[in-house]
Order: sequence, then structure tokens, then C-alpha cells
Amino acid sequence: MLKKIRTECSVEIDDVFVVKRLGRSVEGWCAGCGGTATMVTPEDAATLVGTGARSIYRLVESGEIHWAEGPETLVLICLCSLLERAGQDFHTE
Ligand SMILES: [Zn+2]
Repeated sequence: MLKKIRTECSVEIDDVFVVKRLGRSVEGWCAGCGGTATMVTPEDAATLVGTGARSIYRLVESGEIHWAEGPETLVLICLCSLLERAGQDFHTE
């Protein structure tokens, strides 16, 4: 059930590397991107950018990163928007 990982956003980090590092991610619809995006859990997102899950939720609440409702978790974070945000400034905690 391997699906090609592809995102519509332009990010400079190698998505494949990111996904391999996480070991788990899903491809889902991101309203913010207006297309299919790689989605990760808030916990994985936090690990990925070296912050806490609390900071991730704060970004979700403030609308600074895209998110979608996942099947098992409450929210899934759009990897594109997370990495774009992380590239700018990620000193929220
Ligand atoms: Zn997105």
C-alpha cells in the first residue's frame, strides 16, 4: 500500500527523508493547500521541528499552520505548512 508521497507546497526539505525519519505519515486532503498533502500527528510534528506538542497546537489554533481532522487523532498537521513555518521562525517555546 505504498503511495507516492507528494505535496503541493514548495518546501525545501526532502519530504521523503522527513517521512522516513518519522516512520509514519498519511496523505490526506489539506484545505489550506487546496490539495493532497502529507499529514503528521501533532506529536510527530513537534519532534520534527524540535518543539513541543503544545507549540504545535498553538500554531493550529492561531491558524499559522494547516491542519485537518484525522481518523484516529483529533488533528493532523500539514507537513508543508509546518515546514514553511519552521523555516521562518520556530521559537514559540
Ligand atoms: Zn497544507
